[in-house]
Amino acid sequence: MTISLIGRSIGESVTLKLNETAAILRAKGDPVIHLGGGEPKGKPPLDALLAASALLNSGEVRYTPADGIPALKQAIIRYTEEFYGRSPAPENVMASGGAKQAIMVCLQAIVNPQEEVIFPAPYWVSYPEMVKLVGGVPVPVHPEDGSFTPRIQDIEQVVSSYTRAVIINSPNNPSGAVYPESFIADIVDFCERRGLYLIMDDIYHRLIFDGRTPVNCYDFAKDHSENSRLVVINGISKQYAMTGFRIGWAVANRRLIEVMTNIQGHQTSGPSALLQHAAVGAINGIQSSVNSLRLTLENNRNVLMDRLRSFNGVHVREPGGTFYSFADFSAYEKDSVKLANFLLEKVQVVTVPGAEFGMDGHLRISFCGSIKDITEGIERMKWALDPDAPNELYIGDRKLVRDWT
Ligand code: PMP
Repeated sequence: MTISLIGRSIGESVTLKLNETAAILRAKGDPVIHLGGGEPKGKPPLDALLAASALLNSGEVRYTPADGIPALKQAIIRYTEEFYGRSPAPENVMASGGAKQAIMVCLQAIVNPQEEVIFPAPYWVSYPEMVKLVGGVPVPVHPEDGSFTPRIQDIEQVVSSYTRAVIINSPNNPSGAVYPESFIADIVDFCERRGLYLIMDDIYHRLIFDGRTPVNCYDFAKDHSENSRLVVINGISKQYAMTGFRIGWAVANRRLIEVMTNIQGHQTSGPSALLQHAAVGAINGIQSSVNSLRLTLENNRNVLMDRLRSFNGVHVREPGGTFYSFADFSAYEKDSVKLANFLLEKVQVVTVPGAEFGMDGHLRISFCGSIKDITEGIERMKWALDPDAPNELYIGDRKLVRDWT
């Protein structure tokens, strides 16, 4: 079979694969603890469900404008006013099949083959593959001080005449780091001066802890005209626990949104009418679920940090947002894929290897599950890795016996 060069260069989505593996093991009756997940487990807001079912009951589920139904665009405009203090026109907004598709279509609209897209490591697993999908060259940047927080100097060092765009994701998947305001100010200014597109992936901006407020990139932009190359990405997946609804969006200059809409129109004709209505319900409806999700996650984070800190040899920085922590396990095993496989095989705990995010030696451990899963999962990991742990561990009435050193 002949497969295209681009097709061959694309790896499988490791995080989606892990969900599949965990589901298969659970179906077999294995007591799997999934600490690798990327979605809150709560129910979507009632307003979302009611809006979608009203449309479904009407039977009027038809094609929509490729950039989204007017009601969704209005909801996104209101959202942008509330959280960013900006009032984009409907022509500045495109709804998409998740934030993922909004980023993908944006890259298709701006990147030529061989052009480079920069993003700090650790990075979301899909960025490199998305850039490759458009024939571009992914350029991950490793903060020189070994932290999870990039500095503008780190970015400056890798910019070349081929650089087309920078992607920034804060709060960050996988580290949970919230980049400092000074960095956001610097990167907005830098991209404006260099004429680079700046894609702000703000998908986690409301899931932020310790009384922080999200950093608003527009506050640092000088160019608010239709020449602005700032693209803000957001969506309903994480904040409203609506991952399966697949609605996200982009806010950008009119010309770019026009081109993105043309592309999306030919690719998918736009996201499903049903799910767009659900998104309108979520965005315009009662917002209390977002706050309670944030509080639950903050509490989960505190429990996880407490457990990880008592884990000798594991180094972890406290996440300021999201539902991920990115802990350094290199004292136990430098090869994170090997370590994640070991933990899955021996104690049935799913984590995501740091190598997938551009930083080996680490594991991404999610705290979007229950407190019980977090505490029991870390307990099992400790048992598997600590050479001084007792020889046996009970999981329910199953006895595990250590057959490794
Ligand atoms: N960006 C980041 C950083 C993410 O972690 C995710 C989801 N894992 C997305 C974008 C995509 O979100 P959506 O479900 O809206 O496509």
